Amino acid sequence: MHAPRIDCRAHSSRHASTSGRIPAAASPGTRRVFLTRLSLSNHTRTARHVHARVLLGLVHAQLDDNVASVDAASSGTDADTIAAIVTGGQQGAVSIIRLSGQEAVELASQVFVPAASSSNWTDPASSHRVHYGRAVDPTENRENRDHERRTIDEVLCIVMRAPRSYTAEDVVEIHTHGGGICASRVLQACVQAGARLAKPGEFTLRAYLNGRLDLSQAESVASLVSAKTVAAADSALAGLSGGLGQEISGLRQVCVSLVAEIDAHIDFSDDLEELETADVAARIGDVLTRVEAALETAKQGRLLTTGIQVALVGQPNVGKSSLLNALSGFEKAIVTDIAGTTRDVVEADIVVGGVPVTLLDTAGLRVTADAIEKIGVERSRAVAGTSDVVIHVVDASRGWTAEDGDILEGLMCPAEGGGGNPPMMLLVNKCDLVGDGDRAIPEDVRGRFSCVVPTSASTMEGIDRIHEGLLELVGVEVGVGGRGWAVNERQAEALTRARESLVHAQESVVAGLFLDLWTIDLRSAVLALGEVCGSEVAEEVLDDIFSRFCIGK
Ligand code: GDP
Repeated sequence: MHAPRIDCRAHSSRHASTSGRIPAAASPGTRRVFLTRLSLSNHTRTARHVHARVLLGLVHAQLDDNVASVDAASSGTDADTIAAIVTGGQQGAVSIIRLSGQEAVELASQVFVPAASSSNWTDPASSHRVHYGRAVDPTENRENRDHERRTIDEVLCIVMRAPRSYTAEDVVEIHTHGGGICASRVLQACVQAGARLAKPGEFTLRAYLNGRLDLSQAESVASLVSAKTVAAADSALAGLSGGLGQEISGLRQVCVSLVAEIDAHIDFSDDLEELETADVAARIGDVLTRVEAALETAKQGRLLTTGIQVALVGQPNVGKSSLLNALSGFEKAIVTDIAGTTRDVVEADIVVGGVPVTLLDTAGLRVTADAIEKIGVERSRAVAGTSDVVIHVVDASRGWTAEDGDILEGLMCPAEGGGGNPPMMLLVNKCDLVGDGDRAIPEDVRGRFSCVVPTSASTMEGIDRIHEGLLELVGVEVGVGGRGWAVNERQAEALTRARESLVHAQESVVAGLFLDLWTIDLRSAVLALGEVCGSEVAEEVLDDIFSRFCIGK
């Protein structure tokens, strides 16, 4: 039996030559060529020029900031051994400098002197062990005996030989004292020894190009590092463990097999039994269902990473600032019984069910002659218009008033060019002052809100219900957040294209169109699915993804 006429991998390799995509099954060698191209494409300065700028930058280092700004040092190729401080900030007791590349151990040996003269720390057999010693200035006369060389810090050094390292290359990590100066000096020493400063995300890019991580896992690394909540970190960890990549590669593989089968039937229609249309349609349907399930996680992913913005609106003195303080657990906004105290928007960040929530306490919405308060009122309207949820607060002891009606009407008029109204929640606050908190709200008013909650910022009544209401309104299932992976915006866009192609393919099958037509859309689905895990990805997409990483990742 002959091979199928067109193999999807061959197809994508052809694509690689014209559009800068990495071939579907890029071998580490192919990926290296690609990396070289990628690294060289953005930089024109000569290595010497760059090297000089690095040293100059480091001498005048304002520590991390300066190191980050010396982007010129990022020029070079994958043959370079790269180095960066991989620990963030300057406050910790320890900082770590990571070197990665073929010469990592050789370069580190110019900087690290083990305390035990008998140490065999550079031996491959000593990989993944911790060695204690000194970091020294590599520019000093190499004839000096090790103990005479100037110490720049007391350090620990760990060699991680390829491929058992983060980048799958030889990696050396030097643990210095924290505070910034020591790490900067040791990094400078590594650069003087011949290392190049790593570009943002370059360690993870190498891990991806060396086949250690797929693209979705690499993106999960960035999500994990920037996670603002435990749920977001859990979700990123699930992605990092390969859940998303495996699911999508599996679906891509099903499509590749289908294309191969259909192609075989095109070429050898006389020798093979006719394809079962219902069977092919069902197999495509199965992939479609799973693509849709993956897409359903997109909203959760967006909520976990970007969070939501919630505006508290209402008349002055109804308790908006008190509620903001009660929800955030600390005195963020000034609370007085003088109407019009909050003249600008006060912000508080809280976490609700794993979702980061930015609460905005707006100036009370009322007609005012005070120029400053007027600006505050205008800002409040603008903030409410762009929020994901608006919480309208009224005073239970006053009930629903004509002014509240005006505020609601004002909010309901979408700003010019604005979309629909965000979901609205009504809080009937100060319910501790009256027997039956939300009694005073007419039925027709209730109907205009997605939920109505009696609250008291004084007794904390109803605060939990606000949390639940917020999650319901933005569509988060309580307790689900953070358990599994979630697709990000880029992945969702690729999955949406895959879904469209699968729908078209299924229609062609059901309509009994030519077999050639079945495979056109299936091939598009293969390409789109390949973009999620990185088996098919354009150079500029990679550039975009990795440029968002921080230095040292
Ligand atoms: P804002 O102008 O809407 O932000 O209202 P504030 O939060 O500044 O509150 C105005 C006054 O109402 C203050 O004296 C608060 O102590 C009081 N207040 C706020 N919430 C409650 C509540 O739930 N119960 C009672 N009894 N008083 C409250």
